[in-house]
Amino acid sequence: LTPPETLLHALRETVAAHSERPALAYFDGRLTYRELDGLSDSVAGRLAARGLRRGDRVAVLLQNSPHFVLALLGAWKAGAIVVPVNPMYKSGEVTHVLHDAGATALICSDRAWEEYLRETAAGSSVRIVLTACELDFQTRNDPRVLTFERLAQAPDAEDLTAVARQGNAAPEDRTPGPSDIALISYTSGTSGTPKGATNTHGNIMFNAERQRTGLELPEAPVYFTLAPLFHITGMVCQLVACLDSAGTLVLTYRFEAGVVLDAFAEHRPAYTVGPSTAFMALAAHPAATPDHFSSFHTISSGGAPLPPALVEKFRAGYGPYLHNGYGLTECTAPCASVPPHREAPVDPVSGTLAVGVPGPDTVVRIVDDAGEEVPFGEQGEITVRGPQVVPGYWHRPEATAETFPDGELRTGDIGFMDERGWLYVVDRKKDMINASGFKVWPREVEDVLYTHPAVREAAVVGVPDGYRGETVRAYISLRPGAETDPGELAAYCRERLAAYKYPRQVEILPDLPKTASGKILRRELRSRTGAGTVEPSQT
Ligand code: ATP
Repeated sequence: LTPPETLLHALRETVAAHSERPALAYFDGRLTYRELDGLSDSVAGRLAARGLRRGDRVAVLLQNSPHFVLALLGAWKAGAIVVPVNPMYKSGEVTHVLHDAGATALICSDRAWEEYLRETAAGSSVRIVLTACELDFQTRNDPRVLTFERLAQAPDAEDLTAVARQGNAAPEDRTPGPSDIALISYTSGTSGTPKGATNTHGNIMFNAERQRTGLELPEAPVYFTLAPLFHITGMVCQLVACLDSAGTLVLTYRFEAGVVLDAFAEHRPAYTVGPSTAFMALAAHPAATPDHFSSFHTISSGGAPLPPALVEKFRAGYGPYLHNGYGLTECTAPCASVPPHREAPVDPVSGTLAVGVPGPDTVVRIVDDAGEEVPFGEQGEITVRGPQVVPGYWHRPEATAETFPDGELRTGDIGFMDERGWLYVVDRKKDMINASGFKVWPREVEDVLYTHPAVREAAVVGVPDGYRGETVRAYISLRPGAETDPGELAAYCRERLAAYKYPRQVEILPDLPKTASGKILRRELRSRTGAGTVEPSQT
């Protein structure tokens, strides 16, 4: 692949060839490529005039909106590194990221600034603040999504939209190159304190271009933004890949199944990618019909395990086949995916759905603890080497050396490869449950639970047990209107799994805790103590 050097290079070409094409669609509002280019130039000009230098860090804490795109492009045009921050983070988490990244500028919503970010940023290195009123660019005020009022402009911040409309010229000498860091992406922290992966422009464009050339989408495709843009999947597989394809990016602030279905009907998108939990929510929504999904050329599920039962339920209910994809923040989103017109096989022994085949120029290996490659079919740790693997973590030489020995990414995921080159992810190394010395991988138990018609979401964790050391505990949320009980669910698994694997404890919750990118937080469930069926340990 020979991708454009950066997204800014690709944009220049699109602006020259298709300036009036819509780049962004947000409710009833549209921004053309010409407008997007001009507005982001102005943001860049203002940031530079305020003293932002090449390589400075700009933290962006915004929901999916045109402001996010303006902030990103404006900061890149000013030569800065963008630090996308989860807008659902609490003050302590934001403090960690602002300090760790040493951010000079902060772009956030006016509400968040007033509510907590002013205080949070007070002791940090932030000295330039732009705030966005997320009502701007929106011509229809949909009360289901946006219920807040415009605030008075804070005296200690500038309004992003006003800055974008000032008509400032972008600084001339700041365009980054492929080896410059584009993003510091903090991992979601499902495995500890978030670390900042340094995604270069080259890393990002490789994956965007792989998608542009590999998915066989129609020209100028309409992309629907399902994943949050601050997460690497949303950033690369939606925002950057769409703009790299001169397509139209449809944004809907944040995920809400009913709003998303309406937007599918209105915009008729060709492509979307999201975590499997988003498709579970869409499939469980009472208004969903096959018509809502009829415009899609491809739908990808990535960033979280995809239960084979969901793929089948989705296809049977709505038509489309969900294409699995596997990746990490550290490899700038996907490193393996299911190619168009292909279906991922299910491993006959474990029942696991393959995540795909490694992408072009990408070497995926399965290794043992000593780093030696294991034979086909055998489980080991997944490693990745390729142009999308980041050079390391921001200012963490030790963590970088440990996770990227010799530039090869140690993913911490356990998986195997079959003889035909399909990759399977078994689970995360640290999530293994050790029940009386037997290895239980939560994913396998969850896959069985998902075949139960009443189950909407399932998460399996190991909890301490006096007899076995650890025992298997399942947390479930139910489909609307479905009825079952913990005993029935435990018995259902017992019929289908080896005796040491089925959950001895089952608890039904209204909803399972998730990260903002849609992953179920097993860590949070592990520390929860609650009611559930508890069968005699000795069974
Ligand atoms: P942290 O690294 O802080 O725990 P995180 O895991 O949420 O955060 P990401 O980089 O978003 O950070 O997630 C990558 C992980 O998601 C992978 O290591 C893998 O465990 C899981 N994953 C991604 N795609 C798939 C998939 N298709 N099937 C199974 N697991 C997947």
